[in-house]
Amino acid sequence: MKITNVYAVQRERLLARPMRNAQGSTDRRLFTFVIVETDQGVTGIGDAFGDPLLMPGIITKRLAPAAIGMDPLDLDGLWRQLCASSSFWETAGSVMCGVSAIEVACWDIRGKCEGRPVCDLLGGRKRDRVEAYASDLHWEEPQQMADLARSYVQRGFRYVKTHIGADGEQENDLRRCEAIREAIGPDVGFLIDINTAFDLDTALTRGRELEAFDPFWYEEPLPPLDYHGHAQLRQELSMPIVTGENLYLREGFEPLWQADCCDYVMPDILRCGGLRQTRDICHDAVSHHVIPSPHNFSSGVGLAATLHLMAALPETQLLEFDPTGTAIYEEMFLEPLLVHEGMVVVPTEPGLGIRFDV
Ligand SMILES: [Mg+2]
Repeated sequence: MKITNVYAVQRERLLARPMRNAQGSTDRRLFTFVIVETDQGVTGIGDAFGDPLLMPGIITKRLAPAAIGMDPLDLDGLWRQLCASSSFWETAGSVMCGVSAIEVACWDIRGKCEGRPVCDLLGGRKRDRVEAYASDLHWEEPQQMADLARSYVQRGFRYVKTHIGADGEQENDLRRCEAIREAIGPDVGFLIDINTAFDLDTALTRGRELEAFDPFWYEEPLPPLDYHGHAQLRQELSMPIVTGENLYLREGFEPLWQADCCDYVMPDILRCGGLRQTRDICHDAVSHHVIPSPHNFSSGVGLAATLHLMAALPETQLLEFDPTGTAIYEEMFLEPLLVHEGMVVVPTEPGLGIRFDV
């Protein structure tokens, strides 16, 4: 089997209200889908979750020429070829997001060829559904956030995540967290994501204030390479520390284990190198007593890939689920995507179990 074509297709969704986190605001979401075609008529779908301004060029001009002619079932050979597709060996950034997208698409192809869902290929389906958290609650007025949080709990989610920490918002953030905790009650897990915005002093001071709201975790309070800062937070705060969504490759997570700096780790399949890298990172995490909880905030491709991985790796916990209705998401699934009582059912169709209408 040979790859005959690789190309990117972008789709945009305009947002009714801006999506804001500590690092900025957007009024649109731009998705870059990657289609891998083969000489046997089997097509795979990936999602290039890098800089959307760069991804079409990286896919079509840089990675497609390296992939065409390769066997999509030779994941090892193809992956190395993609990483080394210029005179420099790429280890991170948007090129690695492109490599990840093609890798995921090749798992989709392999599953379709064998007539088996990807979770079977990753070691076997160990569970049919995965507990999810509603990952939204981008910062706005406290009451709006509280109402939204309550609606997710009413839909059955037992965990919700908020994004706060923007400059100058300290007092308002406390009001936001108070309103959300009040709305969801004491038994719902409340995840707080800072999107890398704080320095160590701020992360400590604000972290102590946030502990009043009994967070389930404190996500990326610091820049992603500040392992020792995260380790200090872990020692001085009582809530679990989480990081990892901005790291690449299995080797890139090694400093986390060495620094003993997090309780949960969030590799993103679409960024860190694909499904095999993420599987290895999850195994490494467990051996270092860190709970893997993959990051997942893009299209239905990422959701499907993450579901299959988590079905095969029962040591992973908490699927990140986008309940906003602003992603290209549920409509990609061949079987209707079932979400019940905060649990998401793992697809059973061959490959990833999704489609994309080009
Ligand atoms: Mg995050």
